[in-house]
Amino acid sequence: MILDLTLTKLQELGLTEVAAVLEGRAEQAAKSELSYIEFLNELLTEEVLARQERSLRTRTRLARIPSPKYLADFDFEAQPGADKKVINELATLTFIDRMSNICFLGPPGVGKTHLALGLVMRALEEGYTAYFTTLDQMIADLRRAEVNHNLPKRLRVYLKPKVLLIDEMGYLPLDRAGANLLFQLVSRRYEQGSIILTSNKSYGDWASFLGDPVLAAAILDRLLHHSVTVNIRGESYRLRNRRKAGVLTAPGAKEVAPAQ
Ligand code: ADP
Ligand code: MG
Repeated sequence: MILDLTLTKLQELGLTEVAAVLEGRAEQAAKSELSYIEFLNELLTEEVLARQERSLRTRTRLARIPSPKYLADFDFEAQPGADKKVINELATLTFIDRMSNICFLGPPGVGKTHLALGLVMRALEEGYTAYFTTLDQMIADLRRAEVNHNLPKRLRVYLKPKVLLIDEMGYLPLDRAGANLLFQLVSRRYEQGSIILTSNKSYGDWASFLGDPVLAAAILDRLLHHSVTVNIRGESYRLRNRRKAGVLTAPGAKEVAPAQ
């Protein structure tokens, strides 16, 4: 009777986890030496943990991450081009509160997306919101929105999260309208929220993939004002593993068929 009344009140207050565990915990507590305060604390801890877990799950879903990658799984010895100290410093996430940006530059396969996603997963774990997109997906989406007179609303998707990961900048060139949309996004996020980006192009090549040197300079100016650039030179992790397995002969060498 009193249990039912209590459960109803817990539901009313939205303390669903406490409601779920109360009966069992109360029985245990009756047999133990827990003080009232300790018992209450135990119940509230369950509620807080359950909420944190739910929030992490929701934020991870909203972040649209293609497949999660963790910094703990990154093999720094296999990639001397990525400085572990720098990455560990970034993993403290102070860059998010400072609204500064991180740019991972380097050739394909060196772990740029892995490290960028690793930082995003850390941010999600720490309670921040994040969003993953490739540059091409984002520009295509914003273009569609512009045609449908829906640009301000769609822009908010990319402006609201504390961390925006823009993957694969530079693989495909942008036309002027696309570069303009990128400029709008970057200038509106400037000093408002962090961008993590990955690119296979060095900054000197951005003018050509953005199609316009003035716009490229304006975008880079805002992106880089408060930023850290992680330049990863080195060999593709996938190729390295295949070479180790004897499929390739040497770095940069042509692929050869495995012995029959
Ligand atoms: P990039 O974005 O630079 O092209 P990715 O981050 O996509 O490269 O890396 C390619 C694949 O190799 C991914 O599956 C990634 O998890 C893995 N990888 C790359 N570098 C490492 C590393 N140093 N340790 C562990 N896995 C790695
Ligand atoms: Mg990548």
